[in-house]
Amino acid sequence: MIIDFHVHCFNDHIAARAIEKLSRTADIPAYTDGTVADTREKMRLWGIDMAVVHSIATTVSSQPKVNEFALSLLCYNDLIPFGSVHPNAQDAVYEIRRLHDAGIKGIKLHPEYQGFDIDDEKAYPIYETIASLDMVMLFHGGFDAAYPTSLRASAEKCARMLDSFEGAKIVLAHLGGMREWDKIETLIAGRDVYMDLSMLPGYLEPEKAKNIIKLHPSSRLLFGTDCPWCTAPRIIEYMNALDLTKEEQKQIYHENAARILNM
Ligand SMILES: [Zn+2]
Repeated sequence: MIIDFHVHCFNDHIAARAIEKLSRTADIPAYTDGTVADTREKMRLWGIDMAVVHSIATTVSSQPKVNEFALSLLCYNDLIPFGSVHPNAQDAVYEIRRLHDAGIKGIKLHPEYQGFDIDDEKAYPIYETIASLDMVMLFHGGFDAAYPTSLRASAEKCARMLDSFEGAKIVLAHLGGMREWDKIETLIAGRDVYMDLSMLPGYLEPEKAKNIIKLHPSSRLLFGTDCPWCTAPRIIEYMNALDLTKEEQKQIYHENAARILNM
């Protein structure tokens, strides 16, 4: 059983455009055409049983549409859609409650695309609401190729935010943060926070990842790809290079995800 905790797909009518634009901006290839159908087809091919699907409300005005799409995915028994709220949206807290009541289990936030620092206290009421509803919040962590001069989810900022939200179900994508790994080792590893393995192949040597993983409880690691920007076979191969025990692999492939999603 494998749960991919980090997948992106799009509404059919914007999928082609979104994939083309994102792929060009970040200069990375896409391994699906961005549609729900092709994403589910690739999941079957790659042996992925369930996927947590993330969309991002990049503007206040896109928030309703993004969440309509997330809600439309609740009918698929292999997809676990997360909603998204924009920190500047006046109805963000209300929107989180609405999504929760409709069956949404988590919220994705992306400090770069949404233009806020992860430790900006203006966003804290959002985090408090998500935590109080026992939902999961997944943040992009570290560098993002689309915003090369900005670092709104640096290891330091993530550490400061975590100080205020002990006990909340927080996931920092990309093993705590892209290109922040030296600091993740000292500031984040070992803390009560989840990290996914998405997008690591080609960016972080497995040998270096092992240093962080040694310091971090295996109950706080999640299998994730960041599909369509990486594939499940690549992350599985990467995991195989981490010298994990069978028990740890089981936790990372699905047990931890199932637990925090109350499945
Ligand atoms: Zn992602």
